[in-house]
Amino acid sequence: MYQHLDINGDVIGIPIGKVVCVGRNYVDHIKELNNAVPDQPLLFIKPATSLCDMAEPLNIPTDQGECHNELELAVLIGAPLKCADRQEVKQAIWGVGLGLDLTLRDVQSALKEKGLPWERAKSFDGACPLSGFVQARNLVSLDNLSFSLSINNQVRQQGNSDLMMLDMISLIVEMSHTFTLQAGDVIMTGTPKGVGPLMVGDKLDVELRDYFQLSTQVL
Ligand code: ZN
Repeated sequence: MYQHLDINGDVIGIPIGKVVCVGRNYVDHIKELNNAVPDQPLLFIKPATSLCDMAEPLNIPTDQGECHNELELAVLIGAPLKCADRQEVKQAIWGVGLGLDLTLRDVQSALKEKGLPWERAKSFDGACPLSGFVQARNLVSLDNLSFSLSINNQVRQQGNSDLMMLDMISLIVEMSHTFTLQAGDVIMTGTPKGVGPLMVGDKLDVELRDYFQLSTQVL
């Protein structure tokens, strides 16, 4: 059973909750999928049952077309937020880690074409592997967090929080006006470019620069 961990692998002791995600928060990724820039943030939710430990081998669906990597900065919420302002959001952030917003891209494309919701593509069991979280007080800044994903020793994704269209605090303020956020909820802040199909046997190396590295594998 998944539990939120710190970067030493110790249990944080906050119950798990939902995952609130934003689509299209980096211009380079919007371009690679030929999507339009949204006029308001595109929000969606993954359930707590989608959570798993990124350090454990990843069990991905293999019978529903391509399953894509989307490596994103993940924020662990430590206190409730409802219609919050920036100061309240800053105080409620427990820490930051990395998450994979695993996406069944063929399923999602078919759903998008029909104007249907995306849960079948993004909310399946194991669709949100998470790293441990770096405590907020140990982070130098939220606005210059650099992260990357290599697959089989080739760099696939590189991002930095300073390239987000909506910065982390603004994004969480906005989300809290739509969904009450609770301690244990996780915010996924969008993917930079470099999404692509994962294959069984792939070796993944992720890094949050200056804070941690982690290796995992697709089962
Ligand atoms: Zn995503």
